[in-house]
Amino acid sequence: MVAMTDTVAETKPDMPFANDHDRWAALVERDVNADRKFYYSVATTGVYCKPSCAARLARRENVAFHATPADAERAGFRPCKRCRPSEAIATIRFAVGACSLGAILVAATDKGVCAILLDDDAGALARDLQDRFPMAQLIGGDASCERLVAKVVGFVEAPARGLDLPLDIRGTAFQQRVWSTLREIPAGETVSYSAVAERIGSPQSVRAVAGACAANAIAVAIPCHRVVRSDGGLSGYRWGIERKQSLLEREADS
Ligand SMILES: [Zn+2]
Repeated sequence: MVAMTDTVAETKPDMPFANDHDRWAALVERDVNADRKFYYSVATTGVYCKPSCAARLARRENVAFHATPADAERAGFRPCKRCRPSEAIATIRFAVGACSLGAILVAATDKGVCAILLDDDAGALARDLQDRFPMAQLIGGDASCERLVAKVVGFVEAPARGLDLPLDIRGTAFQQRVWSTLREIPAGETVSYSAVAERIGSPQSVRAVAGACAANAIAVAIPCHRVVRSDGGLSGYRWGIERKQSLLEREADS
């Protein structure tokens, strides 16, 4: 029997691929979630690649890591013809609006919404977006995103309307499992971190579930605010405990 504690607090988001050990593990697995987070070069070929490149795995001692394609090129490497790492920069469009929870930013790629961020300060939202997608080209004031902002604000103010958006969800396999489980929690209900861990078949991973909640970039649409402690306490919320409380109260009333 696994002892479980559910007194976890949501702390800083996971920083995947923050050290060379994790980066090397991503190469071994050709992890597509690592793409755009870093690049690697191979001393013996003079080429740099995306982590998911299908090329034969180089020897560890010949591999170096780079934050951006420009960094790899400054170090004298040329882009791989197979995975084309210099073309990995995505365009993200966004718009900022206001709701009763404060300022709100909705950002989208061609595939769907990739971020919904909340803050008191509208200026902080664009900086938060750039921090989360350091390799992306950001285009603000986008008309289609303005419509998405209106839709999300409509849901925040009246949750009974529901919220159905195409999402472009970026995260590790574990985070994706947690987030898809959160999307099955109906408005007006809450579940505990340990219940989420059980639902994904990993009851010992309560802390990692809280980490995945804290790392969620798509507020409201991936309803991490519906996850609470097993004693009903709200625990933490990436966008502030008052916002979490307010969202839950409205959903309970609707
Ligand atoms: Zn390559």
